[in-house]
Amino acid sequence: MDIRIEKTKNPKAKPDENNLGFGVHFTDHMFIMDYTQGKGWHDPRIVPYGPLSMDPACMILHYGQGIFEGMKAYKSVDGDILLFRPEKNMERVNISNERLCIPPVDVDFAVKCIMEIVKTDKDWVPTAPGTSLYIRPFIIATDNKLGVHPSHTYKFIIILSPVGAYYPEGIDPVKIYVESNYVRATPGGMGYAKTPGNYAASIKAQMDAEEKGYTQVLWLDGVEKKYIEEVGTMNVFFVIGDEVVTPELNGSILAGITRNSTIELLKNKGYNVVERRLGIKEVYDAWEKNELKEAFGTGTAAVISPIGELNWNGKKIIINKGEIGPISQLVYDTITGIQSGKIKDEYNWTKKIE
Ligand SMILES: *Cc1c(COP(=O)(O)O)cnc(C)c1O
Repeated sequence: MDIRIEKTKNPKAKPDENNLGFGVHFTDHMFIMDYTQGKGWHDPRIVPYGPLSMDPACMILHYGQGIFEGMKAYKSVDGDILLFRPEKNMERVNISNERLCIPPVDVDFAVKCIMEIVKTDKDWVPTAPGTSLYIRPFIIATDNKLGVHPSHTYKFIIILSPVGAYYPEGIDPVKIYVESNYVRATPGGMGYAKTPGNYAASIKAQMDAEEKGYTQVLWLDGVEKKYIEEVGTMNVFFVIGDEVVTPELNGSILAGITRNSTIELLKNKGYNVVERRLGIKEVYDAWEKNELKEAFGTGTAAVISPIGELNWNGKKIIINKGEIGPISQLVYDTITGIQSGKIKDEYNWTKKIE
C-alpha cells in the first residue's frame, strides 16, 4: 500500500522548545488509515492536522472500543532522528486489538506509517536536551450505531506532539500512594491492553492520591489487594537484597517496552532480575530489614521514575533516603544514552528515520 501525502498549506508556528510541556502542541500533519469489513485496512494517508468529523452515534464515543500507543522520536547527537523499538509498539497494538475485537494491523506496514509521518514532520522533532517528539498512534471504532458489539469500520490515526524534558531540573524521586480501595484491572479484564477504559478507571484514584500530596498510585491486584501490579502508567521494579524484582506479566499488567528493555539490559550487565509475584507486605518487610534498596517506575514518558516514598494505609516508608539509587541511574543513563545516540546501541533498539 502506498501512503498518500497531502501537505498543509498553512504550516503552524513552532512552539518554544524550552516550554513544551506534555501533549499540548501538535504538528502540521496526521496519519489516517481506514478499515472496512470485507476490504481490510485501506487508504493510508498523511493529511493536514485537524478535527475529525464524527456522527454522535460513533461507537468509540459510547463503548470505548479503541486502543492507543505511546512512543517517541529523538534527535540524536549526530542529528539523526531515532525511534526506540517501534516494532514492539506495533506488536502491542495487535495484542490490544485482539482483546478489543479490533482487526489486526500489519506490524511492518504500521512501523512504516510511523516512519513516514515522523519524516513528514521532521522539523518538529525538538533538539533541546531531554525533549522529544511524542508519537500517539490510536485506533477507534467508527460505526454509527448504538448496541454493544464490534464495529465493522475503524480508523487508525497517528498524531505527533513535541514534548519537553521530563526532568528539566534533574531526576526527582516521586511520592507514591499505595491504592487499597480502587483497582485498575482484574484477572480476565483488559489490564494488559492499552485501551481507553483502563485509564478512565484510574482517574479517580489518581485524583485522590494527588489530593493527599502524592504524585501517583501504586496499584495492587484486583482480587486480594496484596500483590503489586504497576505504578500509575508505569511498570515497577524493586531492588530487594541482591534481587531486582518486577511483577510478572499476569494479564492485568501492561507489558511495557521500557520494562522489557530494563530487564534485558540489567540481565546483560549481570544483575539478578526476577519476574515474579511480589506482595506489598514483602516490600515493607524488606524495608524493615534494611534490604529494600531502590524502587522505580519504567515507561516511555519518564523512562525511569525513582520512588522516594511509599504510603500504604498510612504507613510511610522512605526509600534510599528519597534519592535516586545506582541501579535506577544506570538504567536511566543507558536507555536515554541509546535513545539520544550518546551510547552505542549494542541491542539494535533504535531505528533511524531515513
Ligand atoms: C504504556 C504503559 C506502561 C509503560 O509502557 P512503555 O511501553 O514502557 O511505555 C505501563 N503501564 C501502563 C498501564 C501503560 O499504559
